[in-house]
This record gives sequence, C-alpha cells and structure tokens, in this order.
Amino acid sequence: MTKMLFLDDSYLKECNATVVSVKDSKYVVLDQTVFYPKGGGQPWDTGKLMKDAQEFEVVYVGKFSGEVSHEVDRPGLKEGDRVRCVLDWDHRYKLMRSHTAAHVFASLLCVGTGALVTGNQLESDHVRFDFNFENFGRGVLEEYVAKANALFSKDIPVKWYQLPKEEALKIPGIIKMAEALPPDVPMLRIVEIVGVDKQADGGTHVRNLKEVGQIELTKTESKGKNNKRVYFRLA
Ligand SMILES: [Zn+2]
Repeated sequence: MTKMLFLDDSYLKECNATVVSVKDSKYVVLDQTVFYPKGGGQPWDTGKLMKDAQEFEVVYVGKFSGEVSHEVDRPGLKEGDRVRCVLDWDHRYKLMRSHTAAHVFASLLCVGTGALVTGNQLESDHVRFDFNFENFGRGVLEEYVAKANALFSKDIPVKWYQLPKEEALKIPGIIKMAEALPPDVPMLRIVEIVGVDKQADGGTHVRNLKEVGQIELTKTESKGKNNKRVYFRLA
C-alpha cells in the first residue's frame, strides 16, 4: 500500500520516496507519495519525479488495489531508487480551491432546493455538476453562486479527519454519492466545512473558505426533465 501523504496534508508540495516497483519501464509505484491519483471526481496531479539531477515527468497517476501508480514520460527508474516527488503546485492548488468550492455550492443548492447531485467532475479550468432537479432556471443557479461567493469571503475553516465507518454513517447527508466510496473500509475520511457541509471524501481541499476566491457560472444544460448540468469556474 502506498502511503498517500495528501490525505493528511493537502499542502505538501514535495516528498522523498523509494521506488517499490516499475512496470513496463514507466509505471512507477512508490512507498509514499504527494501525488493524488485520479478518482472521486478529482483529476490526477501532475509534476515530476527527480532522481538526483534526472527529471521524470509524471503524466498520469492512478490507484490500483491500494497502490498509487505514477506513469512517467521515459524509462530510467528502477526498484530501490530514491526519488523526490515534486508537484505542479499551481495545478493542484486550483483543484483544491475548486473542490472545496464544489462542496459549498452543491451543499447550498441541495439543502436550499432539494436537488440531488447525480454526478460531478473537476477539471483544471472548470467544475461540472449534474443535478436531479426539475425546476432549474439560470436565475436559481446564479442565486446559489452568489450565496456561495458570500461564504467564500468569510473566515470559515475546512477540516478533514478519519471517523469509524459506523459512526460516520449516522451523520445525515454524510454520503453524497454512495457509489464513489471504497468498499469495506473500517474508517471513512470526512471533509467538514464548518457549519456548511460534512461529507465522506478522499479529495484535497483548502483549509479555509477564504482561499477559494470567487466562482462564476459558465454554462447550464438540460440533459432531460430531471437532469441538469451546471458548469462553473474559479473567477
Ligand atoms: Zn469531494
């Protein structure tokens, strides 16, 4: 199992690691990593692995049976090598701001209107949400974007911690999308935006809503009577 350092500290930009295995000369598993693997609606981190002066560009990161696999752009790494993991921090930090923004927006909208989230995906330049909701005008959405933006100017902490699964499941609304959860885990990681939202989540977030900045609605689409798609981005 790769130790995923971002689960405790989302602000870690670099770490040292040891190469555990290399498959097809480009899929590198490390003993620990700061790289977030694709999953839970959040894209993978980019950056590089450095072995002394040699740089290996990380082009994809995935998680397979608990192992985080870093796909690098060229061969040269082997088992036992000591490397330094260096994130493309601008890319990751934007995703952290977007991810926290997404939780706030969805929570306000769902609590306020009774809409249900049916899908969501963060991208480097926008956030996409699918909602199950019939009466969904652009005006309503603008209203919730404004409400979210009002919160982003406040000093509201964001915390993440582990809870035993049984205890966590007693919290109302803790699971927004049940199918996104890993099966048979004894502990759930909870992301709590104090007073706003609390949910089981494996993603990386900012520590305070002030770090988000502001968001703006970019596009809305109707994908059917009850299925609406909304796009927003960091302003
Ligand atoms: Zn999330």
